[in-house]
Amino acid sequence: MTKLGNDFENFKTWDKENYFHPWEGLKVQGAGKADRTFSEYAEGIYVYDEHGNKVIDGPGGMWCMQLGYGNAEIADAMAAQARKMAYCSPFSEATSVSAEFAHAIAERAPGDLNRVYFTTGGSTAVDTAIRFVHFRNNLLGKPAKKRIITRAHAYHGGTYLTASLSGKPSERQWFDTDQVLPHFLPDVNAFRRPAGMSIEAFLDEKVADLENAILELGADNAAAFIAEPVLGSGGVIVPPAGYHKRCLEVCRKHDVLYISDEVVTGFGRLGHWFASEELFGITPDIITCAKGLTSGYAPMGAAIFSDRLFKDIEGDVSKDVYFTSGYTYSGHPVCAAAGLKNIEIFERDGILEHVRKVTPHFQKRLHQMLELPLIVDVRGMGLVGCIECSLTREGQASAGIDATIGAVIDARCQELGLMVRPYGNMAIFSPPLVITEAQIDDMFDMLTEGVQRATRELLEQGLELEQERA
Ligand code: PLP
Repeated sequence: MTKLGNDFENFKTWDKENYFHPWEGLKVQGAGKADRTFSEYAEGIYVYDEHGNKVIDGPGGMWCMQLGYGNAEIADAMAAQARKMAYCSPFSEATSVSAEFAHAIAERAPGDLNRVYFTTGGSTAVDTAIRFVHFRNNLLGKPAKKRIITRAHAYHGGTYLTASLSGKPSERQWFDTDQVLPHFLPDVNAFRRPAGMSIEAFLDEKVADLENAILELGADNAAAFIAEPVLGSGGVIVPPAGYHKRCLEVCRKHDVLYISDEVVTGFGRLGHWFASEELFGITPDIITCAKGLTSGYAPMGAAIFSDRLFKDIEGDVSKDVYFTSGYTYSGHPVCAAAGLKNIEIFERDGILEHVRKVTPHFQKRLHQMLELPLIVDVRGMGLVGCIECSLTREGQASAGIDATIGAVIDARCQELGLMVRPYGNMAIFSPPLVITEAQIDDMFDMLTEGVQRATRELLEQGLELEQERA
């Protein structure tokens, strides 16, 4: 990969002046805006930046590049579909590739989750799930049953509704969010449980939080509980074992629907098509997914509904009623072609089996990171991992300073050839699923060196590390 030419400066200018990015820093708005690194070429797990540097894509795009970059089979399938039938209105027509993809997803989804509603991404999948829950309760004559129970540090998307259900403080600042529908449960992160509390007691408390919330809202008002099986961008929080099952039991007891947001955990990230049933033993009422659905090659999401949810609203109850919600690009044929090819490759190449095979090595290397004095906690499952750093044992005392640690680690790792996803005092990893054990070693070797360099830098700034580590 050669360096990009001089005319590249134009793109830099246009990016600053004309491209209003997600997560835009406004303090240097306009032409003076901070430089973003350009990436123009990628292959497998590697991205080549504007200087020609080869960088491991630690975040796997945004947890989506399951099969890695440069997959010619997916590109060809998309091109062929674009030539054959580039678009088909999902409101009034049907086309074979989208029907086949819906069937392929339903076949792999747990239980009777057979109704696949295609969307443009994860946010619109969650949005649709909530709109359906409300629509259904209206049809059932339960207009008050609308409240949605969600959790601290959850991320469910960037639309008004899904952002309102998200509990990451960084993404709520300066925005308005709906204050009526959501009800937030406290943190399920066992790392932050009170000193001396056992995991069992913590689990009991977390399940009780849900039941108490339903009782407080009233079962006539509580419509659904939404939960990522593993809270992803909120810091890879794995709830205590048994949590999901017990929460589902509580939901069933009070006639509250369970929405499992598998936008991150679905499509192989944890070694299964979906994690809900295979790893956590639950068959939720609705699953939302996106990202890995097309391995990031095309924007697409899906809300998958249980047949059961339709039983009591079909027929006479809903005569002449239409679910009048949808997107121009729902079930887009080119995206569906990418998704179908994605599934075919997953099965032919044994991608789920591969993830299950390399996971122990990935998690072993992740857990070894805890030996570094800057790191106070590591969390992960499947091919997802997070390191949490702090200058103090609790990770609280110097919150202001801690918030910059992720950015320092990111900068040092980038120099070494590893892209990480910084989040405050954390760095998160979700590499392409095709990563080999040797590449996992490269990744964690660079991360170790990057954290050590970052630590030295922070110490040089006069910050002190607590010596004692539990
Ligand atoms: N739900 C979860 C769990 C996510 O992690 C995300 C995105 O990261 C979303 C929903 C939103 O997906 P999208 O960005 O495709 O709209």
